[in-house]
Amino acid sequence: MPERPVKPRLAVFGGSFDPVHNGHLFIAGSLLRQKLTEEVLLVPAGTPPHKQEGLMASPEHRLAMLKLAVEEYPGISVSDIELAQESMPAYTINTLETLTRLFRDSDIHFVIGMDSLLDIPNWHRAGELVNRHSFLVYPRPGFEPPSPAMLAPHFGPRNAEKLRRSIINLPEMPVSATMIRETVSQRQSLCGLVCDSVARYIREHKLYQDHE
Ligand code: ATP
Repeated sequence: MPERPVKPRLAVFGGSFDPVHNGHLFIAGSLLRQKLTEEVLLVPAGTPPHKQEGLMASPEHRLAMLKLAVEEYPGISVSDIELAQESMPAYTINTLETLTRLFRDSDIHFVIGMDSLLDIPNWHRAGELVNRHSFLVYPRPGFEPPSPAMLAPHFGPRNAEKLRRSIINLPEMPVSATMIRETVSQRQSLCGLVCDSVARYIREHKLYQDHE
């Protein structure tokens, strides 16, 4: 029998990216360097209705910063698929179904940090999401991997085990977008936290200056 062709892997990395920081970039780069994927697609989320009062940078700014951050790096690209969508919020399960159709020759994995894994039972149609899709879970300082007993009631023992096997063993990155916004509002240096082009963009557009 002819061998089934192995599909190239595509790591879909969703988030607010408000703004994109070196934690995000380190994760994307690590996935490529460790040969856990051939391509990374960063997918910024739309602004949730309860955050529209200027609490987040606009979708245009977040997208522009992402594009600047990855322009040097082959293998990493940005999709505005969730931002372009009219109805909000865009649910991960819908985005992944659309991307699976668009990239039918790729083997899609959804990338999340450990904090998101702990939150996943609260996501829209979480059971189907976990059952249908593959994950790569990146460790994050302060967040322990959930036990089988925490996951199994939501996803069943088999999918609980699948999620736990998706956890990657790589160095943690102590950076968050919250930290970046606070650092800017306290007029402190962003050196080492975001890439130069993003730091310049934040300065030029006076983003996050009044962050609480
Ligand atoms: P905020 O501080 O505003 O909550 P964030 O730093 O978590 O933001 P997001 O854009 O919301 O950034 O995160 C997108 C995805 O990246 C999430 O799955 C999150 O868990 C993961 N992530 C972000 N930063 C890290 C990090 N330093 N280590 C591991 N995962 C991370």
